Amino acid sequence: MTATEPNIEELHLQLGLLQMLDVGLVVLDKDYNIYLWNTFMENHSGRLHSRLYKKNLFECFSELPATWFRRKIESVFTLKNRSFITWEQRPYLFHFKSYRPITGNAPHMYQNVTLIPLSSPDGKVNHVGILIYDVTDAAMGRRALEKANGQLEKLSRTDALTGLFNRGFWESQMLHEFNRFARTQSPSTLIMVDIDHFKRINDTYGHPAGDEVIRQLSACLQEATRNTDIVGRYGGEEFALLLVDTKASQANILVNRLRDAVDSLAIPHLDESITFTLSMGMVEISNLFQTYEQWIQLADQALYQSKQNGRNRVTVLSMDE
Ligand code: GH3
Ligand code: MG
Ligand code: MG
Repeated sequence: MTATEPNIEELHLQLGLLQMLDVGLVVLDKDYNIYLWNTFMENHSGRLHSRLYKKNLFECFSELPATWFRRKIESVFTLKNRSFITWEQRPYLFHFKSYRPITGNAPHMYQNVTLIPLSSPDGKVNHVGILIYDVTDAAMGRRALEKANGQLEKLSRTDALTGLFNRGFWESQMLHEFNRFARTQSPSTLIMVDIDHFKRINDTYGHPAGDEVIRQLSACLQEATRNTDIVGRYGGEEFALLLVDTKASQANILVNRLRDAVDSLAIPHLDESITFTLSMGMVEISNLFQTYEQWIQLADQALYQSKQNGRNRVTVLSMDE
């Protein structure tokens, strides 16, 4: 019997009350031998105190992160200070199932863990107490909230039909790019795109077919642009492409690629196929624009000219000529 054992027996008595608490309680000695394993731990692990008493924790629970956890315990012995492990740092220490009714779908019990140095009357710390709190409800609540926030943020950015940026978010990106140009003078080009005679498509084939045209065109727009470009649905059948780091002369390549893609697009509808053309207006950024809205207005004017001149074409306008 070691000199410290009577104290632990005493401690054991004192901890009798704690046995009943809905908290895990484990006491280890310096060799990581188990001196106390309370009812909570018995219930969740299925291992009895009587079977674990004076046995090595890491031998009994080989799945524990031994190296890391040993270091944690060592520092409690050395510094004689409490130490905490939150579920955010490590979801659990002991892999227990979660039986909570509300959070029944939790993959396991989430745990907060506190390590406490236990002093003997002679002031020496020869044992460490480990408190395990079941925080599954809180963790699952937080996880659900984070997921909902992420979905909400995405929803507020994207257009439901096409998955492109919606107008509000697209304009915020446009403003960002406009301000960036003032600092960097790195060019970018804006293209407004509008489907020709789209009303006819709706009238002839029906609104759902019109929706499908919008979806397929959106996929073409995404395919034709780079990841860094900012592609938005500006209105019903009107789209806005902001080509970052691109001059109008370079943007022509994209425009041709896009027109080729749309030319070869035939969207099946019953035993027919729907084809369509695009009108576009293109404007490179300029220091002469005082606001980003002026830039959009000029691109809109260019688009209008494309319509006036017979549709299925691109009009390029510039502030700098
Ligand atoms: P233009 O060549 O001058 O652009 O003629 P247009 O018929 O394409 O243009 P107009 O602005 O007259 O009509 C656009 C139509 O697009 C009217 C509107 O009902 C339809 N539209 C707007 N949003 C949607 C949508 O989400 N789905 C479908 N199917 N139709 C839409
Ligand atoms: Mg149109
Ligand atoms: Mg339109």
